[in-house]
Amino acid sequence: MSKRDYYEVLGVPKNASDDEIKKAYRKLAMKHHPDRNQGDATKAAEEKFKEAKEAYEILSDGQKRAAYDQHGFAGVDPNMRGPGAEAYGGFAEAFGDIFGDMFGQSRGRGGKQVYRGSDLSYAMEITLEEAATGKDAQIRIPSWEACGICHGSGAKPGTQIKSCQTCGGAGAVQMRQGFFSVQQTCPTCRGAGKVVSDPCTACHGQGKTKKQKTLEVKIPAGIDGGMRIRSAGNGEPGTNGGPPGDLYIEIRLKKHDIFERDGDDLHCSVPISMVTAALGGEIEVPTLAGKAAIDIPEGTQTGKQFRLRGKGIRGVRSNYPGDLYCHIVLETPVKLTDHQRKLLRDLEESLQSGGGKHSPVGESWTDRLKNLFN
Ligand SMILES: [Zn+2]
Ligand SMILES: [Zn+2]
Repeated sequence: MSKRDYYEVLGVPKNASDDEIKKAYRKLAMKHHPDRNQGDATKAAEEKFKEAKEAYEILSDGQKRAAYDQHGFAGVDPNMRGPGAEAYGGFAEAFGDIFGDMFGQSRGRGGKQVYRGSDLSYAMEITLEEAATGKDAQIRIPSWEACGICHGSGAKPGTQIKSCQTCGGAGAVQMRQGFFSVQQTCPTCRGAGKVVSDPCTACHGQGKTKKQKTLEVKIPAGIDGGMRIRSAGNGEPGTNGGPPGDLYIEIRLKKHDIFERDGDDLHCSVPISMVTAALGGEIEVPTLAGKAAIDIPEGTQTGKQFRLRGKGIRGVRSNYPGDLYCHIVLETPVKLTDHQRKLLRDLEESLQSGGGKHSPVGESWTDRLKNLFN
């Protein structure tokens, strides 16, 4: 049998670019690859594949191509791989760069597609105190059981389940994407390989019914809003024997009356009277663990922060607890009696006679105003 010209084998012109040669070869390789030609077609396809591979090996190599162009077959050794060299075993390894792992994905995956079940999410609202100390919670989550009426088949008792026509019961179909042929899950039966024409009325053809079950969940101390706890295997069941999905418990923090959380730190507002602010004194402040005391120094202004170290929350991944910040808010007295009004006016008068020295904030503010307008 005479050998066909390499250019003819690949169906490219003599002046074809490297890219054209590569493309032509890919096309032929896909068409004649032994994995895609079963039964009687195998032998012929194998020959064609070998022929294309040989042509490609010569024409894709600049030196060998030049020798072939000059001297024909005499210029290249067609038995360069030696007699009995593997015909196509090296396919994936030799052309992995061209095909990537496409073959790994599509090869040898006959039969039904197995699906992992979907993940479920469950929102759990907890208090700040619960977040700080952690808790054992019980939650009710959905669970599934095989339908008692159809025993899991999804078909109305006494009716038939037909093999899926789209995929012929295989659960997968070949899809063409350019010159690639890729095996995909059958869109009609979603990989089940069968189609229920008369669905069971009890489970609407699902073959399973939803129930409820109680799950014990350990909420770790220090957890924060927005964090998720994964409970493996407690999601929806898989299809065709696939593994179940996971359950994610999403933590939300209830708004607290006193504290606002910022990571491991806590913040709270502490109102004090103008007299305490002016004269100083000890005040009581709340913490998550009970009460604490702060010494308010004389002349404290509104907005002043006092930090109580370690009185915040120890986060899930923290070594030390955060801090508690108390933000001082000066309380303006209201509902004054005539006598109180008079006292305040007298106080004001007395303060003004001292010039700006009693009003450090106001004084520096006035200075800044002057600078602004001058
Ligand atoms: Zn049913
Ligand atoms: Zn199908």
